[in-house]
Amino acid sequence: MKVLVLGAGQLARMMALAGAPLNIKISAYDVRSGKIVHPLTQEVLGQGLENGIADADVITAEFEHIAPDILSVCQASGRFYPGEEAILTGGDRRKEKTLLDRAGVNNARYQVIENRDDYDAAIAKIGLPLILKSALDGYDGKGQWRLKTDRDIDAVWQDIGQFLKTSPQGSRQCVIAEEFVPFDREVSLIGARNAQGELEIYPLTENIHTNGILSVSISAGENDAVQSQAEAMFKSVADTLNYVGVLAIEFFDVDGTLMVNEIAPRVHNSGHWTQQGADVCQFENHLRAVCDLPLGSAKRIRPTAMINIVGNVTVPTSVMHQAHVHWYDKEPRPGRKIGHINLCADSASTLGDTLDSIAELLVDDEFPALKLAADNLR
Ligand code: AMP
Repeated sequence: MKVLVLGAGQLARMMALAGAPLNIKISAYDVRSGKIVHPLTQEVLGQGLENGIADADVITAEFEHIAPDILSVCQASGRFYPGEEAILTGGDRRKEKTLLDRAGVNNARYQVIENRDDYDAAIAKIGLPLILKSALDGYDGKGQWRLKTDRDIDAVWQDIGQFLKTSPQGSRQCVIAEEFVPFDREVSLIGARNAQGELEIYPLTENIHTNGILSVSISAGENDAVQSQAEAMFKSVADTLNYVGVLAIEFFDVDGTLMVNEIAPRVHNSGHWTQQGADVCQFENHLRAVCDLPLGSAKRIRPTAMINIVGNVTVPTSVMHQAHVHWYDKEPRPGRKIGHINLCADSASTLGDTLDSIAELLVDDEFPALKLAADNLR
């Protein structure tokens, strides 16, 4: 099988690694350069989307911020999974909110803002504090504003008004105002759905972010009632989209009740733990789903933590005594994810101890939240 992935980053790379034992060959289409590249070596294999599609049995994507004309060409091939609508929905918060409402899943109250009148109406309807998010091109906390007090109403509008006026997306761009959710923690659910509607869903993962970027994900045991809520919402969203592939849903947990924050129509950073912690990892299950092969078990085989390696930081090889290190072969830049570390243990509390001993080998500021993650496990 040959699979063309839209996007040539680490997710395409990890799909290639997971696909090799199944004889699934991955090529990656770099949407910026128009080149088709090898996902591991970045060697240029060809040029042009049409050529990439002609040479592929299946087309998929590793990210959702892709121009609509590229998506419609892929959709016309009849071999694009999870398909145009799912990717467009994941990349546009306005469409995403409409989907969540259609699927009947719990999500934060919101209002679409295109002008100052909408902004004033959102403040009147939802009240402060408000989180405001750009509908398009928003990720890792980028394109967000927080409106906390009446005093800041005009200043925040200055910024948002300017943003809307100058957005390269033109009239497709807007801002979503959302109620501020006083959550206890953030969790995510990753699962695969195949064309027959069958599901394989991983256990929930608890996520700790620093400055909008994921620092640590832990999958170590979960309250059954919370897992069931998440799975019901997952099924509802995936069925509404007639989704094929791996889908990630991020939730806020407010006192044991989940609320969807956002969806990602792809393999997800908070699912990297499945490479060492689950029977079949998210990358393989995504390929199984889009290639119409039987799905693999999403069972967790042991409590696992994933630590992101972000920017120009030091990772001593001694961590390898206790962990698996995955590098993405990327040049370090501030805020850029260049690898991750997976560590496993026999129980949640020993995972906490292992996290502590890994933290001893790393610089606190370079790897925030390790102590917090370890404490949460005990
Ligand atoms: P997002 O890009 O939507 O995932 O937002 C980035 C981060 O901002 C989330 O991981 C949350 O920590 C926080 N956040 C987003 N939306 C809300 C909300 N409605 N209420 C409180 N915090 C939020």
